[in-house]
Amino acid sequence: MPFDPPAVAAGPGATTLLRLRIRGAVQGVGFRPFVYRLAHELELDGWVRNDSHGVELEVEGPRAALERFLARLPVEKPAPAILQAIAAEWLPPRGHSGFAIQHSATRAGKSAVVLPDLATCAECQRELCAPGNRRFHYPFTNCTHCGPRFSIVLGLPYDRPSTTMRGFAMCPACHAEYEEPTCRRFHAQPNACPECGPQLVSTNRAGELRAERAAALADAAAALARGEIVAAKGIGGFQLLCDAGSPAAVARLRERKRRPAKPLALMVRDLAAVRDLCRVSAEEASLLTSPQAPIVLLLRRPVPAVALAPEIAPGNPRLGVMLPTSPLHHLLLAAVGFALVATSGNLADEPIAIDNREALARLGGIADLFLLHDRPIARHVDDSVAWLLDGAPQLLRRARGYAPLPVVAGRELPCLVATGAHQKAVAAVAIGNQIFLSQHLGDMETPEAHAAFERVVLDFLDLYSATPVAIVHDLHPDYPTTRWAALAARAAGGLLERAGHPPRALPLLAVQHHHAHLAACLAEHGVVSAALGLCFDGTGYGPDGTVWGGEALVVPGGLPAAAPLGSAGEFFRLARLRPFRLPGGEAAVREPRRVALALLHQIEGAAAVARQDIPALAAFSAAERTVFRKMLDGGWNAPWTSSMGRLFDGVAALLGLAGSEGRVSFEAEAAMALEFAADPQERGSYPLPLVERAAPAGRAPGQIARDRLHELDWRPLVVALLADRARGAPVARIAARFHQALADAALATAQLAGLASVALSGGCFQNRLLTQRVAATLRAQRFSVFVHRAVPANDGGIALGQVAVAAARLAAS
Ligand SMILES: [Zn+2]
Ligand SMILES: [Zn+2]
Ligand SMILES: [Zn+2]
Repeated sequence: MPFDPPAVAAGPGATTLLRLRIRGAVQGVGFRPFVYRLAHELELDGWVRNDSHGVELEVEGPRAALERFLARLPVEKPAPAILQAIAAEWLPPRGHSGFAIQHSATRAGKSAVVLPDLATCAECQRELCAPGNRRFHYPFTNCTHCGPRFSIVLGLPYDRPSTTMRGFAMCPACHAEYEEPTCRRFHAQPNACPECGPQLVSTNRAGELRAERAAALADAAAALARGEIVAAKGIGGFQLLCDAGSPAAVARLRERKRRPAKPLALMVRDLAAVRDLCRVSAEEASLLTSPQAPIVLLLRRPVPAVALAPEIAPGNPRLGVMLPTSPLHHLLLAAVGFALVATSGNLADEPIAIDNREALARLGGIADLFLLHDRPIARHVDDSVAWLLDGAPQLLRRARGYAPLPVVAGRELPCLVATGAHQKAVAAVAIGNQIFLSQHLGDMETPEAHAAFERVVLDFLDLYSATPVAIVHDLHPDYPTTRWAALAARAAGGLLERAGHPPRALPLLAVQHHHAHLAACLAEHGVVSAALGLCFDGTGYGPDGTVWGGEALVVPGGLPAAAPLGSAGEFFRLARLRPFRLPGGEAAVREPRRVALALLHQIEGAAAVARQDIPALAAFSAAERTVFRKMLDGGWNAPWTSSMGRLFDGVAALLGLAGSEGRVSFEAEAAMALEFAADPQERGSYPLPLVERAAPAGRAPGQIARDRLHELDWRPLVVALLADRARGAPVARIAARFHQALADAALATAQLAGLASVALSGGCFQNRLLTQRVAATLRAQRFSVFVHRAVPANDGGIALGQVAVAAARLAAS
């Protein structure tokens, strides 16, 4: 944290004045009461107030006491507060008397950080369960240490009139807490109690009232006990809940939500209840109980103490578990006494519903009962997902508890809007030295997702009164986010006009998908040297007209001045996975056996199409065989790809792991089955040679020309794997050897690149076994390996990389 050096020296006893300007997440977290208490304890005079950049304060007293104040401030600050920069000035005393909390000063340029929504703190939990307390069993209890923030904020500075709590007038008791500097509800903007705050109701699926307040909660609990599905309005949107112990209830939820196989998350009452189901390390326990309270993917206990429906996460060694994230959830879990499935309140890939009427309309076909309240949600925020990797948390989905906290850059950036990719969309807005990342917005296929995306970008610009200078998008011309960028860049009806600025056309910057993956990982770790990026991914647009996804890209270093987030403005393609065809294009993503056929066709030619000894291929009808043969022989409707994700799919299908008929219901299903099948003790490998060949034509923006490209030739790997299979080797051994082959190939590629730093990015690196094998193999040869921590390795991290690349290009131009 950068401290300005003291400007005035004085003896330890002399009275002097210390003026501090603190930037960061310091509003709405009890920071001013903390300063007030600290100043009182050290017998210092002065004042503290919020401003639109954070907090400013003056303290006056003996020099030694001021130095103690300055030393204790960052150490003893309230847990949710994040101090990004403290500017200190030592000045002559002004003769302050007493210490005051002053009203907010308004200053031009809003940059105070909006905090994420935080799970119920221990003190609020105690009040919730204390029969004599005026907030006993009140589901909207909160304080400056916990409760909703980002999901209720409408504008800055963060004050009650700019939140969705503005419609609730505080009762005298709440108002007294709000005004009392020593109270932990001092300026707690969502402060409320049963007298004056939001209330619960339960309704049927037609929206007809069934019960109110405590009776509504009991109504929902009874419905859950009957095995019904309840749509509950949570912090950042609706959740669909049902009894996790009831196979019938879980099967009904899956069928109605059209989610046949993707794992479902659980919410359980407390840490002891988590331990009934899963193994929990000390680090995992602290992540579960953190204010962010994400869903944590935990290893199942071999014999759980409580029976769970097998349909929750079929075949998965881990369960996604979270603790209650709000008082409402605490009360509901206590009332039912069993674990709940808690999944986002949406149908298939639509964004999560936030509005009562919208929820009744969209979820009426899924839920039997609705548990609603009258505190509006300003924006949807899904539950975050994380796990422990090598002892430190890694985010797999970044939303509640984390968004909209920025990633802090080493220096000022131009104001940029980055639109991310297509699936797992996240938008980024760079303002000053901060890159604000939106919450996870889901797949961009639906109009709802599109509208949510547009709103979140306008929200950021409005929240921070920012004027973008360019819009950054993926190189793919047909992504909805690319089309949105083109419309937003127009002068008339474009983003600037819609954000209330004079209309003007904005420049567009395109960034190749895997370049953005690599740049995101480097930006997260502040790597400014030259680096190799292993981007093992599903799908990304390649400028040569093929689908990229198994890429070894190099960013040259040595340009830190021109590259605010690392030397990420340009890249060259060192190697790729040997291309193969995708019969039927996108259809092959849902049907991995098509990829299996394409792999074999490249090795054996037409004979592959007739093979009957591989069950997934034997299931093809005669008509299908004719069509696929045409596609593979002639290249008709069968684009080339170097996708690592598809290689996983094809290999899984060859091993009979890609669903019963070689079809899957979500993109990573087959790859996950391959990972889970692998025997972690097996150390064998397969040949995956790195061979040199001429580079194909077609370059991305920022791509440096190279006449030589290398390829990882997967053909010997597939031949060896099928030979193992023909010998009757267990699938567990074959799957493990496949993973090790990729790790060995990663090492060969890193040795070819000859660079010390290697970044791992792309959706395949949400495969834990792959990440661990690749990282261990590289580290054993002294490479520095960087994995994603703060943003996901999948397309949820793309927007950050787009900002990094665009900022570097603008700085260099
Ligand atoms: Zn609290
Ligand atoms: Zn009240
Ligand atoms: Zn990707």
